[in-house]
Amino acid sequence: MHFPAPMADMVRGGYTFLQTKECRDCGELIYLFRTPRGRIGPFVKTSRGRFVSHFAVCPALRSLHAARASGAAGQGELFPVTLYAARGARRNSAAIETSS
Ligand SMILES: [Zn+2]
Repeated sequence: MHFPAPMADMVRGGYTFLQTKECRDCGELIYLFRTPRGRIGPFVKTSRGRFVSHFAVCPALRSLHAARASGAAGQGELFPVTLYAARGARRNSAAIETSS
């Protein structure tokens, strides 16, 4: 899949739209998708109506990523889904994709 991608391509590629919510760190509207690998990925809509991973554009997460990348964290599941969990709904411990 080539990102940014329109919704139709995402669906064809095996992504399932779940819900929207605001990024806890920057307040942007996030579209949560279940990825083909069964993870939860946060995406944002571009001005052209296409979707791109919020990890690529969130200023708060970018700085967090930079901080962790210089630390001991390994590649991969750096961001627990609780970063995006709605208030009072933090039981889902599934990992989310850090890139795609
Ligand atoms: Zn954000």
